[in-house]
Amino acid sequence: VIDWPILLRSRGVEFVESGPSTAKGNIYVHCPWCGTADQGHHLGISLFGRGWGCWKSERHRGKSAVRLLSALLSISPTQAAAILGQSPKGLSGDVMGRVQQMKTTLLTLDDEQDRKLDFTDEIKPLIDNAAGRLFLSYLNKRGFFAHDAERLCWRYKLRYALRGHFAYRLIIPIFDEHERLVTWTGRTIASATEPRYLTLSADLEKSVESKLPQAIAPITDYLLNEPQLFKGTGSVLSIGEGPLDGLKLDFALQKLGGKGTCLFGKTLSDAQYDKLVDLAPYYEHKFIVLDNDASMGAYLMKDRLRRYGYRTLHLGSAWNDPGEMPIAALRALHGDALRARQEDNQ
Ligand SMILES: [Zn+2]
Repeated sequence: VIDWPILLRSRGVEFVESGPSTAKGNIYVHCPWCGTADQGHHLGISLFGRGWGCWKSERHRGKSAVRLLSALLSISPTQAAAILGQSPKGLSGDVMGRVQQMKTTLLTLDDEQDRKLDFTDEIKPLIDNAAGRLFLSYLNKRGFFAHDAERLCWRYKLRYALRGHFAYRLIIPIFDEHERLVTWTGRTIASATEPRYLTLSADLEKSVESKLPQAIAPITDYLLNEPQLFKGTGSVLSIGEGPLDGLKLDFALQKLGGKGTCLFGKTLSDAQYDKLVDLAPYYEHKFIVLDNDASMGAYLMKDRLRRYGYRTLHLGSAWNDPGEMPIAALRALHGDALRARQEDNQ
């Protein structure tokens, strides 16, 4: 593992180790690819050899230390490799070394271009046919009835699988702001199956091992419904925890001119934080809808977003999470909150 702090300090590259939007085990530098668009420290580098990445662009991410160092120091990859002690000459005769070098080349080539992710054959569009009905009835159970269930499938491009790694899971595709498929997550429709969600890994080696496509980036780099969130404005933006919460929030809020999303978990990643900050001016009212078992992390997240106008919306004791609420109840909860805020403003 490369000692990045020592290496960067010795080369005069400025970096930060802690701050409001940093994660443990990472250091942050000015992104060399963002250039002047990065007035801060967009690019995180894992101290544990897990690669590096800029929250602004998936293209500024990778695993190759050579590629990163050559960009940071504006030197050739050969020079960077020499600094890192990865000179190809030094490896000659060393078989293990050569294998390692091939791996590095593979990773570098891989993150060089815009990667494209496609569904595997067993993942089918969810429509009202014999196989689809099983999954539509799951959606019924989750509070989407008749036409609502079909509209949900169509609007969010939901899919399903009966075979393979994602068998008997409702597939929720995740798209980035530019409508590119970046990953997917599968919710089991069987109540006893664990884990409830299976998500593609963004790690190349893990993907190769599991014979699954590699996600463009970790799901927690994204918000659900990004293409819609970044398009135009809205009266309300409401954030839930899990994908079903996010889907139901978005579906319920459409009628109020609002949008819903989720964080794919109980914590807020740096990438998500930055996106929510970017979105804040375009939405009049912004709510964080926390599950009733909200953890400490959720409270910290609420504090970070408070200065950008995000407020907590409490479900009340009748419900555990927005995903289990009837659509009408979710709409009424938001309607009440909006009225309360209007009265506050008068
Ligand atoms: Zn960048």
